[in-house]
Amino acid sequence: MEHVAEKEVLLEIKSLKKYFPVKRDILQKLTRKNQKVVKAVDDVNFKVYKGETLALVGESGCGKSTTGRSLLRLIEPTAGNVYFEGKDIVTYSKQELKNIKKDMQIVFQDPFASLHPRMTVEEIIAEPLSIHKVGSREERRKKVEYLIEKVGLSPQMKKRYPHEFSGGQRQRIGIAKALALNPKFIICDEPVSALDVSVQAQVINLFKELQKQFSLTYLFISHDLSVVKHVSDRVGVMYLGKIVEIANTEDLFSRPAHPYTQALLSARPVIDEKNRMERIVLEGELPTPLNPPSGCRFHTRCPFKMEKCMQVEPTVKDLGTNHQVACHLHS
Ligand code: SF4
Repeated sequence: MEHVAEKEVLLEIKSLKKYFPVKRDILQKLTRKNQKVVKAVDDVNFKVYKGETLALVGESGCGKSTTGRSLLRLIEPTAGNVYFEGKDIVTYSKQELKNIKKDMQIVFQDPFASLHPRMTVEEIIAEPLSIHKVGSREERRKKVEYLIEKVGLSPQMKKRYPHEFSGGQRQRIGIAKALALNPKFIICDEPVSALDVSVQAQVINLFKELQKQFSLTYLFISHDLSVVKHVSDRVGVMYLGKIVEIANTEDLFSRPAHPYTQALLSARPVIDEKNRMERIVLEGELPTPLNPPSGCRFHTRCPFKMEKCMQVEPTVKDLGTNHQVACHLHS
């Protein structure tokens, strides 16, 4: 899906796929039944521009986190290309990948699970610096103190362990660790969804401040449209392993073109009654990516489905103003 030509592309994903083989039982092995696969990410394309925040939204199980992890090669993609500053990192060797990881970091949803319980805050934040042999011991110590302050914690806390902190503070430690190697790009994978609403706003504001200060580019993965509206410049909506719509945030929220986006937005709580959309209730559950529906994958739940939708997969249509959608209604 395309965007304005004059902006500099930092990351480009082309035809990214991640299929997980399903374990076969003995009978299936004996009868040599075909190996089934879960198509968690299926032909995803997008660009991320320097300095922007692109959000990926969708229901749980739509493939947004798998997309994030595949493009960092935390899990190996099945197919596709991931161009970072023009170079395809899918072809990189282990060593090349280790080097590029300095520029590409991730902040996870659950800071407690992602921080080593027996390491002090100081050790946690210094770990990437030690792995990449950055600076002397003293330089690393100073950098850790600098980062602790940058994320709004006190340097006096550096000898404490993760369990001594609140959820919001732990996420700040995770952010400091992600910043240690001066990355250009950070994947924020549901970074505030485990936090209380009051703390969410503080952490989101911290992400925004740090983006300005360190010229960061974010891929912000979230199921929460209110968070996404606040934090992102553009939004990609995912459904069952595919991006169905991508647009500038304001455009997507005021002019959603895909019936799935319309349904997601109509279910969003809004304070201002004037902006309330009529609720579109989707029928049924999210189908399994093991056996996705034919044609348009959304047709089993779409209130506007036509005969064609069940047979023909919609291609991406450009609606102008950097807004693209994959739906036969816009053919
Ligand atoms: Fe609905 Fe058809 Fe559009 Fe799919 S292609 S979203 S089924 S109208």
